[in-house]
Amino acid sequence: MKSVDLRSDTITLPTKNMRKAMYEAELGDDVFGEDPTVNRLEKIAAEVMGKEAALFVASGTMGNIASQLAHCGRGDEIILGDQAHVFFYEQGGTAAVGGIHSRTVPNLPDGKIDLALAEAAVRSEDIHFPRTRLLLLENTHNRCNGNPLDLAYMDSVAELVRRHDLRLHIDGARIFNAAVALGTPAKDLVAHADSVTFCLSKGLCAPAGSVVCGDREFILRARRARKVLGGGMRQAGILAAAGILAITEMVERLAEDHANATNLAAGMAAIKGISVNPDMVHTNIVFFSVDENRMPAADLVEKLSKEGVRMLALGPSMIRAVTHHPITAADIEYTLSTLSRCMGQQKAVAV
Ligand SMILES: *Cc1c(COP(=O)(O)O)cnc(C)c1O
Repeated sequence: MKSVDLRSDTITLPTKNMRKAMYEAELGDDVFGEDPTVNRLEKIAAEVMGKEAALFVASGTMGNIASQLAHCGRGDEIILGDQAHVFFYEQGGTAAVGGIHSRTVPNLPDGKIDLALAEAAVRSEDIHFPRTRLLLLENTHNRCNGNPLDLAYMDSVAELVRRHDLRLHIDGARIFNAAVALGTPAKDLVAHADSVTFCLSKGLCAPAGSVVCGDREFILRARRARKVLGGGMRQAGILAAAGILAITEMVERLAEDHANATNLAAGMAAIKGISVNPDMVHTNIVFFSVDENRMPAADLVEKLSKEGVRMLALGPSMIRAVTHHPITAADIEYTLSTLSRCMGQQKAVAV
């Protein structure tokens, strides 16, 4: 049976070039700063993001918590969107590990937060209040249709953080998806940020790892935080070798994932019983909903999986599909015909 696994871009496998580079990687003890391959990855990552320094970490979650620990002390407050991965999917580590207070403002459907609301959330100096230290944004925004945050928005964000002397962290797990979709270099998208985390192991296909970038002093603090989090990985160059190719060989092909997601959303829009807004799809993530009274999301996902198409139900009516390497245009066609069948009808003819 054909298999099209659209649950996440985290399931991508390392390429042949990556496996070869991993096999041949020159290694050392990274906790002593002596793994040449990790050092090379960090240098390349810092350059690509336009920052002074970088730190290889085990995961995006580790990168985000290490960054928060490096920016904030206990009892400090961060402002972030209520749909942020850091708020939603990282076990409340901000509070549990960092002792840092979260102040959420609603995310707009495009992943932005209203900057007037963010500004209103900044605390004044008052003995009753925690101190606002950090604004945290996500680009692209996972739970908001994978939407990229553009330069104009980032410029307004920069004014806000400057006015209030806040630090700015970008959870850029998929920052290269944003860069490719907008046709804007990643370093420009994060130019105003004090720190950025990005994932090597999603659409870029490395088997594991993320990188945190920022200035030298910030990276020293993040490196300390990584150690206490248990992230001192010793001969991690074996993973970093794949990470280097993730950055140097795998970025441009993300455009294929975006084209596949666009076509998937357009095809879904023609299937009765499915609600999707193709205009919201700019990268590799498609959210759609089904009428839960007709067919709950979990039932549809189960039906689809019996035909080899896998997606994630993220609510009673909400389903997410993510395109990635090596999903093809033919896989998208198969997905659409399977989806029509599971919805109990022929594929409608688009007008
Ligand atoms: C995947 C992801 C992360 C990190 O996830 P890990 O599984 O810890 O690597 C962080 N932020 C966003 C927006 C993500 O999509």
